Amino acid sequence: MTDQMNSGETNRSLSRGKGMPSLGYRRKKDTGTWHWHPNCSDWPTKDFFTRERKPEPLNGQLCKECKDRHK
Ligand SMILES: [Zn+2]
Repeated sequence: MTDQMNSGETNRSLSRGKGMPSLGYRRKKDTGTWHWHPNCSDWPTKDFFTRERKPEPLNGQLCKECKDRHK
């Protein structure tokens, strides 16, 4: 007697980390505030520095609006 249960395990690959664009961090050259959310009203589009990793707090400030939008 063979009881074949064909339920339970679904081998689906979960896509994690969705929603966050990999644009990295941007900082305007004339400011010390880093932005990482493209929808920020102050998101730099020109004359900015960019980096992929989270900037050190010593190198500037993190934008409060970006922080607020990233929820
Ligand atoms: Zn911002």
